[in-house]
Amino acid sequence: MTTPDAQTKMQFLFALRSRGVTEIPVLEAMEAVDRGLFLRGLFASRAYEDVPLPIACGQTISQPSIVGLMTQALQVSPRDTVLEVGTGSGYQAAILAKLARRVYTIDRHARLVQEARQVFQQLGLANITSLVGDGSFGMPEQAPFDRIIVTAAAEDPPGPLLAQLKTGGIMVVPVGQSDAVQTLIRVRKTETGLEYDELRPVRFVPLLEGLGKDT
Ligand code: SAM
Repeated sequence: MTTPDAQTKMQFLFALRSRGVTEIPVLEAMEAVDRGLFLRGLFASRAYEDVPLPIACGQTISQPSIVGLMTQALQVSPRDTVLEVGTGSGYQAAILAKLARRVYTIDRHARLVQEARQVFQQLGLANITSLVGDGSFGMPEQAPFDRIIVTAAAEDPPGPLLAQLKTGGIMVVPVGQSDAVQTLIRVRKTETGLEYDELRPVRFVPLLEGLGKDT
């Protein structure tokens, strides 16, 4: 994998801005984290295109502009503890790790978690804890969380995740049927209940039950 040149990075940041990723800390985090490290083989050479790309276990690394928009919607601050459900390649977790105090990330595929861990180590990201498991149940032993991001589509925001969100916390999750265009929603937990905002149409792989078979 070669490091991207200055022009490639500039075009990448320009594409992100033109698609609505405008917050400077988010853009700085995305400039700092080389997406190519999270991809294998020929796909690594396409790391700076604004497209989702295949990773192991039949999964995908999300489109960078969607990663940026979801990160922005999460309104992460440096004191926050964040839970990500759906580690995948680890790219989204690495971006979050630049913005938050601590990131917990969970995936149902052990192989993906192992590969992502190696990249976190390579990047010196010591504030990420990754686990293999069914993230629909969250991480009760680490809860509550200031922020929760789900990077696979659920039919509804999973109840255990809502329960593990702090009052004042924010969760971003794509909801809808897995074979249709889904809606990215933001849930805020207030003293009086949950407030829902519809953000935009998205297309994610489904949030599945149980552990995955590694391929
Ligand atoms: N955030 C990832 C990244 O930056 O590369 C992209 C995530 S990919 C679109 C969705 C991930 O969700 C897949 O890796 C899949 O294995 C995972 N997933 C699906 N259902 C899950 C579940 N119940 N618990 C944990 N992970 C799950």
